[in-house]
Order: sequence, then C-alpha cells, then structure tokens
Amino acid sequence: MKIAIVSNKTKKSERVAAQLTQKIKLQAGLVLEKEYPDLVISVGGDGTLLKAFRQYAHRCELVEFIGVHTGHLGFYADWRDFELAELVASLQNPNRTRVSYPLLEIEVTYQDHKVEKYLALNESTIKSISTTMICDVLISDELFENFRGDGLAFSTPTGSTAYNKSVGGAVIHPSIQAMQLTEIASLNNRVFRTLGSPMVFCKEEWVVVELQWATRYLITIDQQVIERQNIKSVKYKIANQQIHFASTKHTHFWKRVRDSFIAKGD
Ligand code: NAP
Repeated sequence: MKIAIVSNKTKKSERVAAQLTQKIKLQAGLVLEKEYPDLVISVGGDGTLLKAFRQYAHRCELVEFIGVHTGHLGFYADWRDFELAELVASLQNPNRTRVSYPLLEIEVTYQDHKVEKYLALNESTIKSISTTMICDVLISDELFENFRGDGLAFSTPTGSTAYNKSVGGAVIHPSIQAMQLTEIASLNNRVFRTLGSPMVFCKEEWVVVELQWATRYLITIDQQVIERQNIKSVKYKIANQQIHFASTKHTHFWKRVRDSFIAKGD
C-alpha cells in the first residue's frame, strides 16, 4: 500500500507526522508515495484534511483518506496522535472496510461560455463583492425564486457542521446523499421575498444560480477563494465522485457533534 502524509505546520503535527513516517517505513507492505498514493493520512485538524483533499481531489475515486487529530475539532479525523501504532497495524487488516461520503460539484459558466468545474468537500459559497447579489435560483431547470442578499452557500453533509452551521443550516448525517442550500443575509421584505429556510436536495436534483449583473463575484470552494468577473451562472449538484475514508475506526457522528458543539462527554 502506497501512503502519503499531509500535515499542517504546527510543531505537534510535524512531530506526529515524523513518528508516523517511521512506523510506516518499518511496516512490511507499506511504502511512502506522494504522487500516486492509495491512502492519504492527514495529520492536523479539519483544515488539514481539506488541504489533503484539494491536493488529491483529481484522484479521489482512487484514494482513501484517514485523519489523525492534532487540531481543534477534527470532524474528519478518527484517530488521535497517541494511537499511531494501532492505526498502522489496522492498515494490514484484510477485512477493513471504507465509508464514502458525498462531494459537491460546482460548474461555473462565464459570459463567453467558458466552463470551469470544481469539487468541494465542505461547501461552496457565492457572494457579490461590492453590491447586493441579485440572482435567479433555478431548481432542476425550474425557476424557484429571485434572491437578493449577501450570497448563497451550498454544502455537503460532512460540511454541514462547518460554514453551513454558522449561517443557520441543519446538521446532516454524512451518509445521506444530500446537498444543502443556505441563504447568507437575504433581503426579505414586502418587495423582495425568498424562502428564507435552508433547503436540502436529493442526488437527482441540481441548482443553478443565474447572476443578474456582470459584476465581480467571490466563489469559495472549501479553503479556495476565486474572484471573477463576468460569471453567467453557477450550477451545483451532488458529484458523481465521493470521498472515501478508510474505515479502520468508527466514531459515532452525533457524539462527535455533541462533543464539538455542546460539551465534551466521557
Ligand atoms: P479556518 O478559518 O482556519 O477554520 C475554520 C474552522 O472550521 C476550524 O476550526 C476547522 O476545524 C473547522 N472546520 C472545517 N471543516 C469542518 C467541518 N466539516 N465540520 C466542522 N468544523 C469544520 O479554515 P480552514 O481550517 O481552512 O477550513 C476551511 C473551512 O472553514 C471552510 O470550508 C468553512 O466551512 C469553514 N469556515 C467557517 C466559517 C464560519 O463558520 N463562519 C468561516 C470561514 C471558514 P479544525 O480546527 O479541526 O481545522
């Protein structure tokens, strides 16, 4: 098995990554390989896993991920820094399974018909830089509403505990094949009206945001920020690709939510 390690720059993560490197080198059948790994181990927090995903997103169907937690929240990290020996040994288990979660596909179409595609693990947002964002929101090609406000956020179930939660979205169990749309400061009064509630879409649906003005827009894709002029529309759907996590250890999702947002249990 070919393994790549992606670590953040904290002293603790670098120390853990070095220990992990040593253990992998000593284990028969495991080799370190940066370019074409079968398994990517992220050492840090969720931000580090997002960085690791970005690095290997183009091969996400061929790669499995594991997160080692040295950060703050660690929604994507099942293993702790003191469990490295157990982690490495678990990789030799021929019966180990994997869990797969939905990703978001983002298709940006420009006025000149050029198209760019992206994959997000957490979410993608679109905001107008200087003025109120005015757009039509179409669901599976049917006009749903005219939106005015700061912007819109589209998130995956695993991203539902990230930015989505801060803008009032629901926390969704990651095994549900869903995409969530949340408004960011919508204008709602007698003149302008939007639904005003988060919406959850199934795998077969897609949402197109048709922008009304040729101004500058800011699109975020997880940690990536792109600023563009002349965007015509952006299409969001659940991607055909998924992220795969080597399921060598299972953490109860709702326990993780409680521990992260309410209070740490036993
Ligand atoms: P950051 O601004 O350095 O950290 C954002 C925080 O979000 C970190 O505590 C991170 O956890 C946590 N986080 C990331 N993904 C998460 C998830 N799926 N569930 C729960 N918490 C999660 O940014 P970053 O580390 O580069 O991560 C980028 C992400 O941060 C974006 O995708 C966005 O979702 C989120 N973000 C949220 C807000 C907000 O809530 N207002 C604003 C900006 C960005 P760790 O400490 O474990 O890394």
